[in-house]
Amino acid sequence: MSEIDSLKAQLQELQDKALALFADAANSKVLQELRVAYLGKKGELTSVLKGVGKLPPEDRPVIGQFVNATKNALAEALDKAESMLAEKEKALRIEAERIDVTLPGRKSAQGALHPVQQGLNDMMAIFSQMGFEMAEGPEIEDEFHNFDALNIPAEHPARANHDTFFFDMEGTADTKLLRTHTSPVQIRAMQACVDAGGEPPLAVVASGRVYRCDSDVTHSPMFHQVEVFQVDKDVSLANLKGVLQHFLSAYFEKDVPIRLRPHYFPFTEPSAEVDIGCVFCNHKGCRICKGSGWIEVLGSGMIHPNVLKAVGIDSSVYSGFAFGLGVERLVMLKHGIPDLRLFFENDVRFLRRMGSSK
Ligand SMILES: [Zn+2]
Repeated sequence: MSEIDSLKAQLQELQDKALALFADAANSKVLQELRVAYLGKKGELTSVLKGVGKLPPEDRPVIGQFVNATKNALAEALDKAESMLAEKEKALRIEAERIDVTLPGRKSAQGALHPVQQGLNDMMAIFSQMGFEMAEGPEIEDEFHNFDALNIPAEHPARANHDTFFFDMEGTADTKLLRTHTSPVQIRAMQACVDAGGEPPLAVVASGRVYRCDSDVTHSPMFHQVEVFQVDKDVSLANLKGVLQHFLSAYFEKDVPIRLRPHYFPFTEPSAEVDIGCVFCNHKGCRICKGSGWIEVLGSGMIHPNVLKAVGIDSSVYSGFAFGLGVERLVMLKHGIPDLRLFFENDVRFLRRMGSSK
């Protein structure tokens, strides 16, 4: 075989091998490597060309044409393979990135109000609709607002029942306490009215946390109260009963019978505990109401003249009623919750069930 035929055969072999490899290339990176391996400066084609120098000068143009044809064939095959691979890779990418619009969406868990807060909101909404103005007071109180002004002077036995958290304010001689009820807001609201040169009528609802240092199944050291009072000329027990009847029926979402049972509180005279027809047995008598058909829900009464006097309201002209209720107690009765501690343990199963019930 002549030198030129041998070179031609080498080129043909190189081309066949290269075209087969180009067609099999798995991705554009492999193809890029093949381009360098065959057409690069140190590539296969270049090394074959080195043999051209050994040819007689007259044969060189012939083989030159042949080399160019091979080079063009390789370049063309590479371009073609490249564009095919690019198409294929694009199709794969589109498939991978395709959004399945039929997939159900990912829902984020939605929170709900705590049952106590929900109950508080419901109660405040009812009183607000009845025209009571909302007021707030501090949780750290003094003895005057928590006791003295409410006709509970020092040494009064009722103070002992309040299981009060007392503490001293650093750098002062003042004794402060965590309010044991929301009644101090009554005093503050009446004082604010009088201090501003105003006078009744006053109709106020206040709510918030109160503190007692006892704790068992039915008592928590912190709980919530709602305090309601009205002062005007000619306010009577009938007004109190009407407001209670409307509120309790609205809160329990049914006509609940109520009764006022004589009781004693230092800050009201006369005083009454308020019972509702048992919501568990519909007033028939069951274990929870101990067969009586009645359940005690709150304390109430006509504001004691001494309380009005303490804030500078003339009790010969004005009278008023007041009542205070435990929020947790009413929420427990409404939803049949047996244990007060469930409200404060943050068991998410309980909170979810309660949260979705409203
Ligand atoms: Zn009952």
